[in-house]
Amino acid sequence: MLIVPEREIADLMTREAAFAAVEKVFAAMAADDAYNFPVVREAIGHEDALYGFKGGFDRAGLTLGLKAGGYWPNNLEKRGIINHQSTVFLFDPDTGKARAMVGGNLLTALRTAAASSVSIRHLAREDARVIGMVGAGHQATFQLRAALEQREFDKVIGWNLHPEMLPNLEKVAAEAGVPFEAVDLPGLRAADVIISITSSFEAILKPEHVSPGTHIACMGTDTTGKQEVSAALLAKATVFTDEVAQSVSIGEAQHAVAQGLIDESAITQLGAVINGAHPGRASAEEITLFDGTGVGLQDLAVAAAVVDLAVEKGIAIEVDF
Ligand code: NAD
Repeated sequence: MLIVPEREIADLMTREAAFAAVEKVFAAMAADDAYNFPVVREAIGHEDALYGFKGGFDRAGLTLGLKAGGYWPNNLEKRGIINHQSTVFLFDPDTGKARAMVGGNLLTALRTAAASSVSIRHLAREDARVIGMVGAGHQATFQLRAALEQREFDKVIGWNLHPEMLPNLEKVAAEAGVPFEAVDLPGLRAADVIISITSSFEAILKPEHVSPGTHIACMGTDTTGKQEVSAALLAKATVFTDEVAQSVSIGEAQHAVAQGLIDESAITQLGAVINGAHPGRASAEEITLFDGTGVGLQDLAVAAAVVDLAVEKGIAIEVDF
């Protein structure tokens, strides 16, 4: 069995490799070559932790496994380690033998950023120049860094409930040589692409904050009850997602579907656009929305890619298991 420790991931994994892995597995999901297993998420009654598994099998890429982990709210204060902790386990689909164990913390941020980037590549207008951010926490920096590579963006604008966090975005914009401006919510009308990545439980973005032709990647809503976009705005947009079942239950579409504003059948898997089975954006005025709920197959895809890179560079630790 191979081990790729968390400490090695930053030097091994590239945004390009994460993008390629996620794009490929989204396409496999839409072609019914890959599927996610039901998610397990439990409050374990110890350390206030939420622990669970996200797994799946990609028959096309022959990737089988799961990500195990969750959220330990006391880690940082008590132990000086981050609260989100996860590990990916890969298995040989021919034999069931454990193939690899891979640190999953940084990979989670990279695969989530890759998902919104894939949506921007396939759904944003080619002439998109202004990117708007809603959210300025840990994930937001990864999101922005990856998104800036998808179009010739010449300006970043951002809004956050906690404005003192906005310098996180400004720093990433400066690294890319792009100016940054803090805006109020109506100011987001200047954006051609908007990424939302917050822990909000109430709609932030409403129809009056979004111009025609915008692509919105909603990345924060991954649990029942969370919400970043009003049901009215979602219903106005053409909706794409990583997985329809998650979109309507734990994703951004849960609210519009519950209110009867849209039907599940109106939501398209992004993989269908990648495969050419769906034309994607139909006009320069259409608002497209990607509901990125986060699926286990994304984790497996980037973990498999990092194992290949680790083997190539002689970094993978081999154990007799
Ligand atoms: P973080 O704690 O670093 O940042 C949280 C962000 O949300 C900040 O911008 C903060 O200002 C904002 N925020 C907090 N409470 C809010 C509220 N009540 N209303 C509006 N904004 C609020 O967290 P993070 O690691 O950046 O994660 C952000 C979100 O992304 C979380 O909800 C997390 O569950 C989600 N996430 C989704 C995926 C996916 O695949 N879709 C993957 C990882 C994380």
